[in-house]
Amino acid sequence: MVTPFVDGWDFVQTLGEGAYGEVKLALNRSTQEAVAVKVINLTKSKGAADNVRKEVCIHRMLTNPRVIQFYGQRKETNVQYLFLEYASGGELFDRIEPDVGMPPKQAQNYFIQLITGVEYLHKKGVTHRDLKPENLLLDENDNLKISDFGLATVFRHQGKERLLGKCCGTPPYVAPEVLKKKEYHAEPSDLWSCGVILVAMLAGELPWDEPSYDCKEFCNWLDKRVELTPWRKIDTMSLALLKKMLSEAPSNRCTLAQIKKDRWYCKTFKSKGISRLPSSSPPGSFKRVCSGTDLSPTSGINRDDTPGKYSSSQPVTCAGTGSNGIDSSSVDDLLYGVSFSQPVHLDDMLLSSQLPSTPGNSQTPFQKLVKRMTRFFTKYTKEETMQSLLEVLEKLGYRGKQTCPVQVTITTEDKRRNPLIFKATLIDMDRKVLVDFRLSKGDGLEFKRKFVKIKHKLSSIIMKGPVQLQR
Ligand code: ATP
Ligand code: MG
Repeated sequence: MVTPFVDGWDFVQTLGEGAYGEVKLALNRSTQEAVAVKVINLTKSKGAADNVRKEVCIHRMLTNPRVIQFYGQRKETNVQYLFLEYASGGELFDRIEPDVGMPPKQAQNYFIQLITGVEYLHKKGVTHRDLKPENLLLDENDNLKISDFGLATVFRHQGKERLLGKCCGTPPYVAPEVLKKKEYHAEPSDLWSCGVILVAMLAGELPWDEPSYDCKEFCNWLDKRVELTPWRKIDTMSLALLKKMLSEAPSNRCTLAQIKKDRWYCKTFKSKGISRLPSSSPPGSFKRVCSGTDLSPTSGINRDDTPGKYSSSQPVTCAGTGSNGIDSSSVDDLLYGVSFSQPVHLDDMLLSSQLPSTPGNSQTPFQKLVKRMTRFFTKYTKEETMQSLLEVLEKLGYRGKQTCPVQVTITTEDKRRNPLIFKATLIDMDRKVLVDFRLSKGDGLEFKRKFVKIKHKLSSIIMKGPVQLQR
């Protein structure tokens, strides 16, 4: 599982998959520093190199606690590596319990952090354009950080705002005016996405597939049918904020300043403690349309309208000028001269209190990493587990192709008959077998539903209790 990357650094785990490649966790063998590395395959699509160049140009401008720090990059012939601050708490998405959401106090905490981050971006003249719980990551202290600037663009430069025209984003989170293929203002469209994220946090479901008149749920919202789900699950005070944020006309939508004065936003919740991870899988995640994972009639929408003057006038290199006091030259080995803006310590990245390591045990650091919702332990060997898994896949009518002794690629369709592809990997851990499921392509909600079905069918071999490493 551990593959050497560059001298002294190992890729120890895949953190996520995107349209252009994977995000991996790189650990330094001696200093134990951890860095997230976005590995982009430049040959995967025609625009990949251009898109990465824009992503880097925007991301390197940003330094804020609410934004994943961009450290630097490295380019090889067909692959580009982006080095990013590692968020060990995973995605906000995984804190949302399906059909339930999370306690309002916790939702408010994340929401305030989100709005603070968006305010920073907008002040810098940057719009994210793909805000969704999968792109909001959490650090070891549960602090939210905005990530993935793959669709971001500059909408204000030297005080002059430009209207955007390209239709891009992820359908359930995208604002209605973005779908209309006319010019739109950047700021209200990002705030719309924040409103949808708030619904997901408070209700554990998304209000609509997309905000168009073809979508019944969206029409119901316009007709103020708040007796329907998800609105009926949401209390009056937060619903009042959502009415202002999810106002169809961008000119009627509340501004950032108004959100910050809102009653629910400013409400002091009685301290009852913040619950951590939910007990089951979260609601839908959707791959964004612009990166090639087509999910809706909005296909064909593409990126990007970053003005050439921003992307081409800035060299595509790290913003830093030196090693900024980093005590390890190994960091430079990784970046080949591109500097980090801050050191990263592995100890902070691992949830060591939750996943205790026993002296002398054989756990590698990746085995101690964060819990994911789409995994379970079995009581059997890898071979037996693989056999049972393949049998269940066949019973369910999913195509399971074993790509190696420990991995199977599962291909099926979602409810819109779009391809849904995910992988299951078997990992030996503490004399148990961990079966880890990861979405490769398609609708995350369907992926999680299918995961639950598979898990249910395998219940006789699954170990009960939380997925946690304890000896
Ligand atoms: P997509 O096109 O699906 O949005 P992408 O190619 O733009 O994906 P990212 O969103 O940047 O890629 O990363 C994909 C996933 O990898 C994230 O949703 C997250 O789970 C994980 N990930 C990305 N960056 C980090 C990080 N800095 N720390 C931890 N995990 C990360
Ligand atoms: Mg993403």
